Amino acid sequence: MEIVLSGIRPTGNLHLGNYYGAVTSFVKLQEAYKCFFFIADWHSLTTHPTPENIQNSARTILSEYLACGLDPEKSTIYVQSDVPEVIELYLYLNMNAYLGELERVTSFKEKARKQPDNVNAGLLTYPTLMAADILIHRSHKVPVGKDQEQNMEMARKFARRFNMMYNTDLFPEPQNFSLAGQGGIKIPGLDGSGKMGKSEGNCIYLCDEPSVIRKKVMKAVTDAGPQAMNSEKPEVIQNLFTLLDVVSTKDTYDYFNEKWNDCTLRYGDLKKQLAEDIIKATDPIRERIKEYAGNTDLLQSIAKAGAEKARESAAATLKEVRKTIGFKVY
Ligand code: ATP
Ligand code: MG
Repeated sequence: MEIVLSGIRPTGNLHLGNYYGAVTSFVKLQEAYKCFFFIADWHSLTTHPTPENIQNSARTILSEYLACGLDPEKSTIYVQSDVPEVIELYLYLNMNAYLGELERVTSFKEKARKQPDNVNAGLLTYPTLMAADILIHRSHKVPVGKDQEQNMEMARKFARRFNMMYNTDLFPEPQNFSLAGQGGIKIPGLDGSGKMGKSEGNCIYLCDEPSVIRKKVMKAVTDAGPQAMNSEKPEVIQNLFTLLDVVSTKDTYDYFNEKWNDCTLRYGDLKKQLAEDIIKATDPIRERIKEYAGNTDLLQSIAKAGAEKARESAAATLKEVRKTIGFKVY
């Protein structure tokens, strides 16, 4: 069975974009692939978080992904720092990763510009750590967005290089896996900008209380209203309809669409309905997030079981790697 791996950045809470764009697809992938989902806490060290930051965000993220339906029985869900095998592979890969190519990575250049006082070696070797995350399970597919494509190319390059150097086919070349092809939907922001995103600061979070969701939706940017029958919707209005299409029934969507077409649509009504339907769609998830977040024992046992499964897979790869490189296998 093909292996799918996805790293989860432990920054902030999950928003509707993360959910409908990625996590719903992860939940489906569990049925058809051998999936590994890990919380990339080592990666977060490049920006020097506090110990409390690290603890809390791993816990939050784990609660949220479980609440969304990642299933520890079907997938391997683990915290990166629970799997030390990854670091050993990272070391080996770093021996064949060259300064020039690492310095040319766009995300490195961007981060170095953004944090000129903290251009650390971890930042430079971020692509090797990412390659180690992927190659340690000999993954075939990795769901990534545009911003990770270059890192994926690096992972393929490192896999190829290792295979060539030792005349082996130990590592499959990991392929990018399009989430759009898995039913992932791009969720727009409600502030008139392109997408909903943490950096954009325009998110509706899964853990937002209903009152907060209502406020955020009521503040959505609109225009003066429909001007002509059956006209095309401007972007800000289309954004509301895109969300409506995701969370509401077809009847509701059609009702407001007709109102748009015959120029009787009142945005306030649409927003009220949209807010209620977002609340309804996310209600069970919100409840489950609270349950998981409040159950430290359960989270710990899930993380422990995930780490055991992940280490088993990682150790099997590492054993081959060590043998291939020439280290004695005990
Ligand atoms: P940042 O602003 O820091 O990049 P983000 O809000 O874009 O954060 P990520 O952590 O980059 O979130 O993304 C996690 C996953 O969610 C990725 O697979 C990404 O493609 C997906 N995703 C993020 N925002 C959206 C969105 N608005 N619509 C659909 N998918 C999204
Ligand atoms: Mg992003």
